[in-house]
Amino acid sequence: MLQLRPNCECCNRDLPNESTEARICSFECTFCRACAQDKLDSICPNCGGELVVRPRRPAEKLAKYPASTERVYKPAGCRAQN
Ligand SMILES: [Zn+2]
Ligand SMILES: [Zn+2]
Repeated sequence: MLQLRPNCECCNRDLPNESTEARICSFECTFCRACAQDKLDSICPNCGGELVVRPRRPAEKLAKYPASTERVYKPAGCRAQN
């Protein structure tokens, strides 16, 4: 199950479950759309995998399967690949 992390690892902006701006890799490293596209060229800086749109969890499921509240913030790892 996805953790649905609450923020972008690069810029620390909030990315709630409902956001359409969240991008994740297969390990669920989580970034906002701006960082993923402009800084990272849609490649995860941690694992080298693709960053894709994070699916939103239906609201009625969130009560039983809540989103993670543990923020991951690694600005030092946020660099363009080239
Ligand atoms: Zn960001
Ligand atoms: Zn990754």
